[in-house]
Amino acid sequence: MFFGGLQKNSLIDYPGKISCVLFIAGCNFQCPYCHNPELIAPDAKHYFPLHEEQIHAFLKKRKGFLDGVVISGGEPTTCKNILSICKKIKQMGYPVKLDTNGSRPHVIKELIENNLVDYIAMDIKTDPFSYSPLLVKKMDPRHIFTSITLVMESKLPYEFRTTCLKPFIDPVTIKKISGIIQGAELYVLQQFRNNNILNKNFFIKKNAVYEKKELTELKYIVKADVKECIIR
Ligand code: SF4
Repeated sequence: MFFGGLQKNSLIDYPGKISCVLFIAGCNFQCPYCHNPELIAPDAKHYFPLHEEQIHAFLKKRKGFLDGVVISGGEPTTCKNILSICKKIKQMGYPVKLDTNGSRPHVIKELIENNLVDYIAMDIKTDPFSYSPLLVKKMDPRHIFTSITLVMESKLPYEFRTTCLKPFIDPVTIKKISGIIQGAELYVLQQFRNNNILNKNFFIKKNAVYEKKELTELKYIVKADVKECIIR
């Protein structure tokens, strides 16, 4: 098992629920602004001595206090046991929220078809044709489009979210994204926080951060395309 950590309580990670957050170690991306660099290191899977039995014991103890479990990362869909992990948590009576970068639609499909997730939050990091090479060495953009369709047709509560910073997001790109997810229930524009990130040097010479006022302008650009857009 490749658990990278457990946040015991959260009021903000699963909308409307008190949740814990289970971090899966390992990711197929290398976003320079990643806030969990220790989870995506190539040898991250060997760092964390947290076992599935400990998670289950914790969840058993917290029954009645926690309303749900967030599976985050890293990228949970890269974990070969993700289906059985979610199944066990669901069997314990907890709704599961999945945080994903959307790069592995076949796993998302299996999770949905087997009723193993109850909420999906999918990142859309930039124009799907521009992920490579800055965010991931190589990726077929069709994976992102397929995941978007799966999420929107899943009949589950969901959100798409974009961390807004330059050079990945500008007014043209954000409009392109909102066009791709046209009609989406919820689109979240996330403000970038420059702490403990994977590659600080990447942003040194660039004015990467959007101020609140600029984020509001981005929201104005996309809001007609989606049912709800919020800044977080
Ligand atoms: S931000 Fe998410 S997708 Fe990007 S490297 Fe970090 S964990 Fe992976």
